[in-house]
Amino acid sequence: MITLKEALKLNKAELENFKEDLKAKIEANPELNAYIDIKNAGDGVPIAIKDNIQVKSWPVTSCSSILQGYIAPYNATVIEKMTEAGLSPFGRTNMDEFAMGSTTESSFYGKTQNPHNADYVPGGSSGGSAAAVGAGLAIAALGSDTGGSIRQPASFCGIVGMKPTYGRVSRYGLGAYASSLDQIGPMTQNVEDAAILYDIISGSDEKDSTNAKMDDKVTPNLNPERKMKIAILPNYIKDANQDVKDAYAKAINALKVAGHEIVEKDMLDAKFDISAYYITATAEATTNLARYDGIRYGNRVTGSNLEDTFIKTRSNGFGDEVKRRILLGNFVLSSGYYEAYYVKAQKTRHIIKDEYAKIFKEVDLILSPIAPGSAPKFGELKNPMDMYLSDIYSISVNLAGLPALCLPIDTNTNGMPIGLQLIAKAYDEQTLFDGALSLEKEINYNK
Ligand code: GLN
Repeated sequence: MITLKEALKLNKAELENFKEDLKAKIEANPELNAYIDIKNAGDGVPIAIKDNIQVKSWPVTSCSSILQGYIAPYNATVIEKMTEAGLSPFGRTNMDEFAMGSTTESSFYGKTQNPHNADYVPGGSSGGSAAAVGAGLAIAALGSDTGGSIRQPASFCGIVGMKPTYGRVSRYGLGAYASSLDQIGPMTQNVEDAAILYDIISGSDEKDSTNAKMDDKVTPNLNPERKMKIAILPNYIKDANQDVKDAYAKAINALKVAGHEIVEKDMLDAKFDISAYYITATAEATTNLARYDGIRYGNRVTGSNLEDTFIKTRSNGFGDEVKRRILLGNFVLSSGYYEAYYVKAQKTRHIIKDEYAKIFKEVDLILSPIAPGSAPKFGELKNPMDMYLSDIYSISVNLAGLPALCLPIDTNTNGMPIGLQLIAKAYDEQTLFDGALSLEKEINYNK
């Protein structure tokens, strides 16, 4: 597959031919189910779009039954910025319903396969975007990351996935899951393409009050030769499996060979991250999902009165995982439990943020696992708790609002990819991309 950098040099006629070929290739491989719909909006370079990002006049459903029939009346800001830069939305990609999950199995449209082996999950929730890029069926894609949903599927599918600093990319037009954690980001074949796409979608937006209104760009200054101080977390890696530990050792060695200084740091036990995240995310999700009542959006099941319509619509329209989270979110926000759970989670969030800040006083980047292992097989995560626990390495980055990038490091004996993430200070995307480029060069994953 040509890279984004190369595709940006194609003329209109070449792009048109390319898109026809791409569509045929996607249609020839329906079992993968990375795309749920091959729509095209414009004559620019095709970029696959997660089904929770508004593209004007497209059905946009967050892969939920409750949003069947909804047509987006406007473009998300990222889509406007993409279009101005000569890129066009091409294809809706599969995802976990309302971005809740780590395997893409909770989609209304059925599961997506891992492009490396159909028995394995592609990760989630942006599993469709990751599988599309990993299978050579997209030049690049957009995903969203609330607790790892760009980086973890990137790792499982052997591609690059980047979560920007909270506030760097406008959330206007992104179907909200947990508003204080959500960020849209690039999913690409390599680090340079991620930088290019990040530059295009990031920047000021009056329509998002949490937008940082910063317009500095990374691509013109990309420099893999910068020598950095990079922290590793020996106490943190203990819960990862041997494949991940081996990839971690390989990456540390590559960073040393590339001339970076490695220092050891400790982080708070990651089990606290899980509790703080699942309380915060479900509390915000409960509030955000209250708008799906059958009156304003999508599917309606008409009841005997208004309340009955709400109940029937929501009971019928949301899947099990979404309902579980609505219940949990209501519980942690309810009187009597609010202080015990929600407030405590916010305090823990601050401690996590402070911990990162302390480490970043001394280093430029942190090297961390993104998941405890490579992609599991379908059905391997037996219950929701197993799935939540598999998020241990991804969610603290969202709780602290930091930028992070996952890139492929190795494959295990089954041929499944293993990625690791680099994490940077808030708003220091330049250092993140420079470091990632240096690691990518030294690791030579695809060669
Ligand atoms: N797996 C996490 C969750 O289910 C993260 C999801 C995401 O980043 N959207 O909440």
